[in-house]
Amino acid sequence: LSFSWMLGWILFSKRHFLYLVVSEDVGAQSLLNKLIRNNLVNTTNQVEVLQKDPNSPLYSVKSFEELRLKPQLLQGVYGMGFNRPSKIQETALPMMLAEPPQNLIAQSQSGTGKTAAFVLAMLSHVDPNNKYPQCLCVSPTYELALQTGKVIEQMGKYYPEVKLVYAIRGNKLQRGMKLQEQIVIGTPGTMLDWCSKFKFIDPKKIKVFVLDEADVMIATQGHQDQSIRIQRMLPKNCQMLLFSATFEESVWNFAQRIVPDPNIIKLKREEETLDTIKQYYVLCNSKEEKFQALSNIYGAITIAQAMIFCHTRKTAGWLAGELSREGHQVALLSGEMQVEQRAAVIERFRDGKEKVLVTTNVCARGIDVEQVSVVINFDLPIDKDGNPDNETYLHRIGRTGRFGKRGLAINMVDSKMSMNILYRIQEHFNKKIEKLDTDDLDEIE
Ligand code: ADP
Repeated sequence: LSFSWMLGWILFSKRHFLYLVVSEDVGAQSLLNKLIRNNLVNTTNQVEVLQKDPNSPLYSVKSFEELRLKPQLLQGVYGMGFNRPSKIQETALPMMLAEPPQNLIAQSQSGTGKTAAFVLAMLSHVDPNNKYPQCLCVSPTYELALQTGKVIEQMGKYYPEVKLVYAIRGNKLQRGMKLQEQIVIGTPGTMLDWCSKFKFIDPKKIKVFVLDEADVMIATQGHQDQSIRIQRMLPKNCQMLLFSATFEESVWNFAQRIVPDPNIIKLKREEETLDTIKQYYVLCNSKEEKFQALSNIYGAITIAQAMIFCHTRKTAGWLAGELSREGHQVALLSGEMQVEQRAAVIERFRDGKEKVLVTTNVCARGIDVEQVSVVINFDLPIDKDGNPDNETYLHRIGRTGRFGKRGLAINMVDSKMSMNILYRIQEHFNKKIEKLDTDDLDEIE
């Protein structure tokens, strides 16, 4: 291992708490985002719709009443505190609830209301009088399946006749039994076994098939094939729904194999911008000097919340040690920890219980902690070839227009190489990154 780059964001306050977060895989990332998010991501972008039949009218709804839901479900929706459909739900819900059922591929970033939408569709389509599985929902991981299950339970709170079962590793059923639950949610491998090998489910009776987090799904070896094998056992008139947060070529190819004759809905991510961000860099000669500069910054300005990123656990550990010696309360959250433990730390931070969060590059990539006003790149973001990772830089520092809050970004530079990276980032975004003298910090407040 040549370099140990550490990418830092610092969040700070009167009580100096600090966290270290290290994470890796996309499934965990997606779960973390779900666990820490408790409201919708708002977007000003319009949905793009591609209809299977361009001549059929396109409905969109502005209220849940317009959907003519079962009263128990409307009660469930309002019980969850939803007042009106989210942007993607406005178009996706009428499509999913139409008769005859329509197939759908939908893409929008995490937090825009996809899960709530397909859960409502599943609950609307089942007949509770029929005591056999009618909806299958596959998720990439055990934990994500449980999260979706929770949403089904919440939304179906006033519709207790509808039952749910988890097709997940470890849920062992007696041979020869037939499931009575109307909704089965699980991971592709177990779901496939339950449909074919064990025959707990009769796939021919399935009315709705949901494939969630398609982009995460295809990142796991074997999941793609298993999902396709399940899909092939379903009747032709079964409604197929696929959701994804991103839409690269590979996801798109997979989506088309899972969903025949689809309607397609896409919602663009809100553009992030550096316009409302003041960017600085601090020139140092070593990581010790960077740490000293960090201390000076802490001592000089009041920061509501801040984050520090680390590239390696080793650097993260070192920084945590230094910071606790300075009297900061440092919590180390690393890749070895359970995802729930990591989520708990991030959640406490999001709720403002702790004010400083130190994290590695990998961990905080897809994590949005909106209230962070100060971001410190203890190391600049670089890709595996050592080139500037502009996308990560923008995601860490950038803000979407809707928050409009001003932010502060401080980059630590400690070598010719990192200075070069900084210049290239500056050039890429065509936005000046000002030099900051940490012995004279008046200018940044
Ligand atoms: P996604 O599946 O796209 O990540 P979710 O369905 O999980 O999004 O929704 C994100 C958050 O927003 C959840 O906390 C969910 O309860 C909430 N939410 C979903 N739909 C609505 C709505 N129409 N109104 C208010 N909150 C909503």
